[in-house]
Amino acid sequence: MTGTAFITHPSCLQHEMGPGHPECPDRLTAIADQLIASGLDAHVTRYEAPRASVEQVARVHDRRYIDAIEAASPASGLRYLDPDTALNPQSVPAAFHAAGAVVHAVDLVCGGKHRNAFCAVRPPGHHAESRRAMGFCIFNSVAIGAAHALAVHGLSRVAIVDFDVHHGNGTEEMFTDDPRVLMVSTFQYPLYPYSGVDNPAPNMVNIPLSAGNGGTEFRDAVRKHWLPALDDHEPELILVSAGFDAHREDPLAGLAFVEDDYAWVTRELIDVAGRHAKGRIVSTLEGGYALSALGRSVVAHLRELITH
Ligand SMILES: [Zn+2]
Repeated sequence: MTGTAFITHPSCLQHEMGPGHPECPDRLTAIADQLIASGLDAHVTRYEAPRASVEQVARVHDRRYIDAIEAASPASGLRYLDPDTALNPQSVPAAFHAAGAVVHAVDLVCGGKHRNAFCAVRPPGHHAESRRAMGFCIFNSVAIGAAHALAVHGLSRVAIVDFDVHHGNGTEEMFTDDPRVLMVSTFQYPLYPYSGVDNPAPNMVNIPLSAGNGGTEFRDAVRKHWLPALDDHEPELILVSAGFDAHREDPLAGLAFVEDDYAWVTRELIDVAGRHAKGRIVSTLEGGYALSALGRSVVAHLRELITH
């Protein structure tokens, strides 16, 4: 077992939702550029993401929803699923490959080939509900990965960690009251999608932060709420909804994280994974819209995954 897998697919660069849309292909280019500039690209093993099967996606999404998404795929132009979320001809393939990336990452990490993995994919996934696309998301890739780990790798407990600035309402909807899956998150509130603050399910540890909060408040929340819950749950695999839009430079929200906060939380998660999960972490990209900050933050996250 060695090192870190880095998984992506060309279709993820071809999914595009119109001029000026913040969830744009340049996000992945910015990550690739910073990976090279940092020298970290030499220390990851690259994989091209397979396409997730309908069966894999259907572990968390309604089959009629999957059929409707495939039917909505346009031959040209854009088709809108919600005011923020559109399909071009490459979007549905990209969504299947983004989910397939996380499934493959779970296979690599649970199969002992790599200690951890990062999926540099888009569209993101954590807002996608079992029957609804929203908030730039089509299929909930991290949820598909978690369900795959439980169904195929014989795990009985996984954790999904979400530090995107927006609450992962889709992940919450799919796993509320599923004792096999612990979700821990922080998010700005009030902010889109205005969920996460009123779920009494014991497996949901969703901690709102206020506009202007930064690393101090984030680290306090992680220490006080996430880490005890994670240690109680003893996850055999940690999946990360790695959104970087809580960065102080991000234009879509108002938290004030910096790169070192992402490095810090990654080290904390590595420690938890070392205690309970044989070190196994599968991380996938969610948000992050300030291109330079996104690239630097992913590098900070990956540097910890690679070196620990
Ligand atoms: Zn977000």
